[in-house]
Amino acid sequence: MAKAIFLDRDGTINVDREYVHKIEAFKLIPRTIDALRMLQDAGYLLIVITNQSGIGRGHYSEKDFYKLNEHMFALFSKNGINISKVYHCPHNPDEGCGCRKPSIKFIKEAEKEFRIDVSKSYVIGDKTADVKMGNDASCKTILVKTGKAGNDNLHNSKPDFIAENLYDAAKIIKRIDHMEKDI
Ligand SMILES: [Mg+2]
Ligand SMILES: [Zn+2]
Repeated sequence: MAKAIFLDRDGTINVDREYVHKIEAFKLIPRTIDALRMLQDAGYLLIVITNQSGIGRGHYSEKDFYKLNEHMFALFSKNGINISKVYHCPHNPDEGCGCRKPSIKFIKEAEKEFRIDVSKSYVIGDKTADVKMGNDASCKTILVKTGKAGNDNLHNSKPDFIAENLYDAAKIIKRIDHMEKDI
């Protein structure tokens, strides 16, 4: 079975600037490329799960979102990094949809599609919704101190680890993998 890193986007991969949708506003957090390469080389599938309520709120369109995705894929593939899939919730929180994080719907879908062992997989994100999704889906979780750094007070959640940033999170995961290999 495969193992995966379920990655949040804004505030984890790129700098969170409120409703990022323009290519000019998409700035990678330092060492993101190194982090993703490290995780990919360690045998993890890279899957992005992102709440994009800016679409439901009318700040930008689904097309804008896909355009930015293409830009992100190009940036990553230039560096040998492959994202298996990007799942996004386009809904406004008031809509009561079933896919907005902390819902575990997208993890359940990915679990089937890519035959993922969730117990060997991680959720990495900057908000309590990311961590709660990981907790509820029985993944391991890492809260990063970039973006909101978990200070949104929206959900009860408990990260297994706290990291300075995505690169630091990747180092934590590698360290754990090495320890498990020695047992
Ligand atoms: Mg985020
Ligand atoms: Zn949704």
